[in-house]
Amino acid sequence: MASQSRAVVRSSKVGIIGAGVSGVAALKQLAHYDPVVFEAGDCIGGVWKSCSYHSTKLQSPRKDYEFADFPWPNRDDPTFPSHLDILDYLTSYAHRFDLFKYVNFNTKVVEIRFVGGDGGGRHDLHQTGGDGEYGALLPGRPVWEVAVRPNGPIFQWYEFEMLVVCTGKYGDVPKIPEFPQKRGPEIFKGKVMHSMDYCKLDKEEATELMRGKKVAIIGFKKSAIDLAVECAQANQGPEGKPCTMVIRTLHWTVPHYWRHAVSKFIESYLLHKLPLQKYGLNPDHPFVEDYASCQMAITPNDFFPEADKGNILFKRASKWCFTTTGLQFLDDNTRLDADLVLLATGYDGKKKLTDIIPEPFRSFLEYPSGVMPLYRGTINPLIPNMAFVGYIESVANLHTAELRSIWLARLADKKFKLPKVEKMCEHISQEIEIMKKTTRFYQRHCISTYSINHSDEICEEMGLSSWRKNSFLAEALSPYGSQDYKHME
Ligand SMILES: Cc1cc2nc3c(=O)[nH]c(=O)nc-3n(C[C@H](O)[C@H](O)[C@H](O)COP(=O)(O)OP(=O)(O)OC[C@H]3O[C@@H](n4cnc5c(N)ncnc54)[C@H](O)[C@@H]3O)c2cc1C
Repeated sequence: MASQSRAVVRSSKVGIIGAGVSGVAALKQLAHYDPVVFEAGDCIGGVWKSCSYHSTKLQSPRKDYEFADFPWPNRDDPTFPSHLDILDYLTSYAHRFDLFKYVNFNTKVVEIRFVGGDGGGRHDLHQTGGDGEYGALLPGRPVWEVAVRPNGPIFQWYEFEMLVVCTGKYGDVPKIPEFPQKRGPEIFKGKVMHSMDYCKLDKEEATELMRGKKVAIIGFKKSAIDLAVECAQANQGPEGKPCTMVIRTLHWTVPHYWRHAVSKFIESYLLHKLPLQKYGLNPDHPFVEDYASCQMAITPNDFFPEADKGNILFKRASKWCFTTTGLQFLDDNTRLDADLVLLATGYDGKKKLTDIIPEPFRSFLEYPSGVMPLYRGTINPLIPNMAFVGYIESVANLHTAELRSIWLARLADKKFKLPKVEKMCEHISQEIEIMKKTTRFYQRHCISTYSINHSDEICEEMGLSSWRKNSFLAEALSPYGSQDYKHME
């Protein structure tokens, strides 16, 4: 809890929390309100700095990961940019549009308070807006107070008419598996490290950590797969030891050129092209469910060649625990000796939100389905004057965040009106039902299978044409990309 004395140091219309890709996208679109941006880290870019290994690359082609009004300088280059290239690109973007002046670095938001009414939430919403309207995003008086802690114990308070929350779904808070007493990491004599801490090592430190060690990597998503390749590379030569990937749920892995395959043949194509059956890595669920939940991992070129050399091994295990010398798998009671256990077990993005959003609003973000209820992926109809960017996923998250930020800015500018609160809630419920039918992993809130429909609906709601190309031929034949959404402000 922040200190009792709450002398407000600055009052502004718009506050933005986080300066990753989503925060930067929101900042660009809302810059005309002279926003205040709080960023806990020391640079923009979020996960591209904090959750990236030396080998981390963009999984999407660069043309799919660019701002509509700022093409990559080498946008036809077919190679996938490294995380450092992405940080450079974002930095150039921020310089081009003079965005750095709004960002307060090393400034973590630690508390948010509602000052817009008596109790907050649904009741006030109906009262202030009347007739079940959501009400103006910028009502002309402070609605939220925000406490930050810039590099030290002293809190500072700010007040805003609208808050845009962009704290990210990944990074910052590691998800650590739970174990029964005396079967967790406390009894293990080796080292345990989450991938988030591994990201902090420089290349030599990372190689040193893994060289000649028996490494177990827990997980089989993108960060686990990249980690296995880095481990294999650190263990070349006679002294090298193989690493073992411990896999609970299999997901489809795809090579970099997968986009050229025709979708309904993808599964058989992948089974033919990659040695998935050889290593028992073919998932039980259809490819489309991983696509619909943004979960297929692009395999680095070296992944299967390293497995073929015996440098990466695989172990399927739904339950496991620590022993003093490694891991015990509870399904078949086998054991694995390990010196180092790397947890590529993901992040708890929700905690970052629940830590700062006060009740009753926090509970409005929880849904029995587990999906964060957001209209257009941005507004919770029951939370006044607050927007969220970066909490729905697609195959091109930058574009998804940018389009929703354009929508948000036009809404703040009163260029269009939201439907009534009840209608927005219905819309959200319908969307969640559709997602549930598409994939068992619907809780990831991924819109990849219908992102074009979403973009069309968003354009139409803003009063703009959803036909973004300049000819019928182009509409019929060329795929949609971020460049089609230029000139919308
Ligand atoms: C390893 C990895 C690879 C990925 N690859 C792809 C890809 O190929 N294609 C793709 O489309 N997407 C990819 N993604 C998804 C990626 O998360 C998004 O593309 C995007 O970068 C997310 O940006 P964000 O701003 O929403 O979140 P983040 O990047 O997490 O940024 C959030 C920011 O908020 C700050 N913050 C958090 N809490 C606070 C607080 N309380 N106060 C102040 N600041 C705070 C953090 O410091 C951080 O800078 C990848 C993600 C990871 C982790």
